[in-house]
Amino acid sequence: MRSAVKIALCVSEQQASILDSQSRIANWLYNHLLETANGLRQQYRLTQDKGVGKTLSSERGLRDLIPDLKAQHPFLKTVYSSVLKNAALSLSKAIRDYQDSKHGRRAKAINWPKFHAWKRKWFSLQYDEPWKGYDLQGRTLTLTLGKNAEGKQFTLSVELAEALPHWVKREHIRQCRIVKEGHLYAVVFIVERHLPTGKQLFASKVVALDPNHKNFAYAVGSDGKATEIHNPYFLKSFDKRIDALKSKRDHCQKKSRCITREDGSQFWLPSRRWLMLNARLQNVLRKRREQTKQFLYTIANHLYAEYDAVGVGDYVPHGGGITKAMRRSMNNQSLNGRFKDVLAWVALRSGKQYHEWKEGGSTRTCHDCGWVVPEGIPVEVREWDCPNPACSRHHLRDENAARNGLTRTLKALALPCSGRREVSFRRVWRFNGLGIRSGVR
Ligand SMILES: [Zn+2]
Repeated sequence: MRSAVKIALCVSEQQASILDSQSRIANWLYNHLLETANGLRQQYRLTQDKGVGKTLSSERGLRDLIPDLKAQHPFLKTVYSSVLKNAALSLSKAIRDYQDSKHGRRAKAINWPKFHAWKRKWFSLQYDEPWKGYDLQGRTLTLTLGKNAEGKQFTLSVELAEALPHWVKREHIRQCRIVKEGHLYAVVFIVERHLPTGKQLFASKVVALDPNHKNFAYAVGSDGKATEIHNPYFLKSFDKRIDALKSKRDHCQKKSRCITREDGSQFWLPSRRWLMLNARLQNVLRKRREQTKQFLYTIANHLYAEYDAVGVGDYVPHGGGITKAMRRSMNNQSLNGRFKDVLAWVALRSGKQYHEWKEGGSTRTCHDCGWVVPEGIPVEVREWDCPNPACSRHHLRDENAARNGLTRTLKALALPCSGRREVSFRRVWRFNGLGIRSGVR
C-alpha cells in the first residue's frame, strides 16, 4: 500500500534561496522542453516523421534531449540529474495523457500542456528512487544538488520540523519530493508498506461512535467509557475570516489591466490589492485544510490508541429541516465523510479494525429494554425517559444511540454482544489546535 507523508521543513533564508533556484531551473527546463515539443508537434503535423513522433510521445523521448541541453546550458548541471529527468518525464506524461484523451482512451478531456509559471506555482523537486539523491539522519534531510563547473557535487542539509512517524521505516520510503505551499517548504515521502493480511485480529476493546449535529461524535466503549467529542471550534473562526477576506477581495475594485505579451496573446493582470487579498485568502484556506486534517488524525489516533476496533454510524447528517446558516456553522457534512476515510486508513496502518454500523432506529430504540419510540425523538430533545413502564430509564440521546451502535458493532465483528453496554465514566475531548484536551463531563 502506498501513502504519502508530508513534513514541514525548517529552512533558513539562504537555504530557501538555494531551493528556489533549483526549482526555477527545473521549471526553466520544463518550459524549454515544452517549447521544443511545440515545435516538434508542428513538424510532425507537416512531415509525419516517425523519429519526431517518437521524441514527442514516447516515455523517454524528451528526457533523452537533456544531455545535449546540459552541454548547451551548463547551469542545468547545478541541479541533480534525477530532478531534471523528472521534469522531462512529467512533461512527456502530460503529452501522452493529452494524446490518450484525444483518441478517446481517457474519460476526461485533457488539454495540451501549458507553460509553467514559476511565480504562480513553485516547481517541485522530485527524487524518484529510494535513497538516491537524498538521505535522512534523524531529522536532517540531505539533498544532493548538481555539480559546479569544476565537477564538485553540492549537497544541502535541512531540518525536518518533526520526526518521521514511528510506523515509517527507512526501507518503506520509495520517493522524496520537495514542495512549497504559500511560503512554507515541505518534504513529501512516498511510503510503501506491505500490511499483514489474512490474519484475523482479536478485538477485545471496541468503541462505537454516533456522529451527530450537536457534537462531532459521541463514543461509547466496551470499557464503559463515554466520550463526547466536541466539534472543532476553529473551523468557525476560519470560516469567518474566509468570508471576510472573500468579500473584501471581491468588492475591491479589480482594476485589472489587459496585458499583451510579446507573442501577441493577451491576459488580465488583477490589481495589486486584489492579488494581496487573494494571497492572504489562499493562506487562510491552506491553514484551514491543515488544521482540519490534524483534527481528524488526532481524534483517529487517540481512538485507536485506546481501542482495537472502531465502529462508526453510517448516517451522514444532511441537515434536513435546519437552516443553511445552521448547517454552515456545523460544517459536519463533509467532515464526517472524511473522518471515516481517516479512521479506515489509521486502522489499516495500525493493524486494527474499522466498521460502519447501520444507524437506522438507533436513537429511538431504548438500549435497556429494546422499546422503540414510534414517532422518533425530535432533534432538540437531548435527554428522554423510556416510555416503557417496566423500564422508564433515563437516557442521554446520543449516549443511547452510541450504546446501540456498540452492540451492533460487536455483533458485526462476531464478538460477544448479548447484554447491555453500561457507561461508568463520562468525559469530553476538545481539540485545541495542537492536541486533545480531555476533561471530565
Ligand atoms: Zn427502556
